[in-house]
Amino acid sequence: MTKIIEKKEKQYAETKKNTPSLDKLAQLTPNLKNSGLETLTKRAKAKHFTNSYTKVLASLKSPLQKSYNNTIYGCCTSLIQQEDKITSKYCNNRWCIVCNRIRTAKMINEYYPILTELKDKHFVTLTVPNIPGVLLRWQIKDMIKKTQLIVKQIRKTKELKGLRKLECTYNPFTRHFHPHFHFVVEGEHIAKEIVQRWLKMNPEANIKAQDIRSADDGTMIELFKYFSKIISKDTIHVKSLDKIFISMRGLRVYQPLGIKKVSEDIEELQAEVFDVNKMEAIWNWLEHDWYNIDTGESLTNYSPNELILRLIKNICL
Ligand SMILES: [Zn+2]
Repeated sequence: MTKIIEKKEKQYAETKKNTPSLDKLAQLTPNLKNSGLETLTKRAKAKHFTNSYTKVLASLKSPLQKSYNNTIYGCCTSLIQQEDKITSKYCNNRWCIVCNRIRTAKMINEYYPILTELKDKHFVTLTVPNIPGVLLRWQIKDMIKKTQLIVKQIRKTKELKGLRKLECTYNPFTRHFHPHFHFVVEGEHIAKEIVQRWLKMNPEANIKAQDIRSADDGTMIELFKYFSKIISKDTIHVKSLDKIFISMRGLRVYQPLGIKKVSEDIEELQAEVFDVNKMEAIWNWLEHDWYNIDTGESLTNYSPNELILRLIKNICL
């Protein structure tokens, strides 16, 4: 399972490609001889990168401004270490890579075993034509309502089991948004009926843009990617991200269908045990690492590489 999570993270964060290997970092800092510091270094990288675009999001005077600030100043800003246990607060927001990594691991760990039990699994994609941002929230709500109706209609005569996932992408060239659904369901006949009913309800939807395929473990893992990509074509389009997050406010990304529901929320306060040097310390975040408030020592010695710095330069409105 860990391997699958790691694989997905690798695919998502192309930013990781040029990171100096942990072996190299280990030569630079004796702290990294402990494997727990590998995890904390990844977290430092996620926090630094998240803060870089969330600061721009927070400058937009968006209705989400308070939540953006909570990510910057409240998510993992202070780590309390007791022996090898480290406790920190998490913001639980969808734009936060630190929290998304934890959420993705949780979703995979809890949903994946249930989904693998389904027989004759099929992966369905439902789309509508791309739309301008002004229509995004209305469109998403309309799409959710329609899929709920489809599920209700099918259930009148058949059993329907699986998971529905909402995703949204942005096309910087047309400046249009592309909200769409992925489903994993049991049975090809159910998959086909979902698409048929979707096309009937959405006459403007293109039949070729809907998709059904037999689902293996790889396609199922597709479901657990982040619901919206932060980076599109090496650029971060902050206003479009803000639009997506505003439009998704209070709405669920995952909808279980006849299977156990897993909360998308992660615990606000988490205590984890790491393989680190045991000590009592408070580590506070500054720029791209945590520092011991008593000694000034840095926790991970992480500093962003060229590629990350270039990506941060590519943050645009
Ligand atoms: Zn967070």
